[in-house]
Amino acid sequence: MPVGTQGAIKAFDHSFLESIGYQLILANTYYLVQRPGLDILRERDGLKKFMNLDAALLTDSGGFQAYSLSPLVKFREDGIQFRSHFDGSLYLFTPESVLEAQRIIGSDIRMLLDEVAPFGADKKKFKEAVKRTGIWARQSIQALMKEKAENRLPLHNGLGLAFAIMQGGFFPDLRQEAARELLELDFPGYAVGGLSVGENRAIFMDMAYLSGALLPDHKPRYIMGVGAVQDLITAMDAGFDMFDCVLPTRNARNGSFLTSLGEQNIRNARFKNFHEPIDPICSCRICHTYSASYLHHLFRSREILAPMVATEHNLFFMQNFVKEARQSIWDNSFPSFQSKWLQYYPLAKGKRGIKNEPIVQI
Ligand SMILES: [Zn+2]
Repeated sequence: MPVGTQGAIKAFDHSFLESIGYQLILANTYYLVQRPGLDILRERDGLKKFMNLDAALLTDSGGFQAYSLSPLVKFREDGIQFRSHFDGSLYLFTPESVLEAQRIIGSDIRMLLDEVAPFGADKKKFKEAVKRTGIWARQSIQALMKEKAENRLPLHNGLGLAFAIMQGGFFPDLRQEAARELLELDFPGYAVGGLSVGENRAIFMDMAYLSGALLPDHKPRYIMGVGAVQDLITAMDAGFDMFDCVLPTRNARNGSFLTSLGEQNIRNARFKNFHEPIDPICSCRICHTYSASYLHHLFRSREILAPMVATEHNLFFMQNFVKEARQSIWDNSFPSFQSKWLQYYPLAKGKRGIKNEPIVQI
């Protein structure tokens, strides 16, 4: 899923999504309830119609952003209270209110409210977060049943499938507890949160494999906020089906191109006189049209076109990378897909998480 947090993919015109092959994007409730606001979205029959999006829409509940962006956030029994980082006004997200907001946004896949414990917090905090998330999941079920009874469907043909989020930090027993609790409630899909937040890759891998195995393989398994190529390979091997991350598009804006030969920084001097496409085998519109030397020039001269072309290429790359992975799973050749790509995206490399490989105590 490309990330369109505020109803737009940065530096990319979403009317071209279909031509690249994306069928689902992610947007964020935390932002959308503030801008453009639910009144406008209600008036326009949901976000898809507002942005004229010809794809399905998944929305995050906003809990994670409230926690990570708000200058003042308080986890309460009944929800998450926070001040907007835009204008300081006070909000309360409850399990019911975020589902209702996502109904108005018109999401096809709605995420439940979950409690996030801060990175590096002690086990007690994570245990509390798992417990609270479980209670909120039960309340969410009640809200969904009420919505169904009242025949209130998500706007603009949204399906409104609700996915629960498994938390538990880097504690295997808490992950197990969270899975037990949430699986009982039989949601149509399950997400894993709280990974790729700054832990080192070994811990990430352990937790991804553990979490993937705890979730049912006949339902969509979604690992949230994971987007480095190396981590996607791990996550797919661990059984995950759905991914979102700002990494491919954010790094694109910094001049980082994902290619069949690894990640390349177009600002590098060696591209100054390299008059071939940045990726020799990429069939995207950008690689067909522009040479690496021209892309280098665009970034050096800070042209607005620079982040646009890089974003389009990286989105195309990601789509094809995942397509190839899917095909290899069908052909029973995923291990060779994995070893091929790990040559160019070695596990020892690849920027990931929000912090740089800190030491984590478990
Ligand atoms: Zn390309």
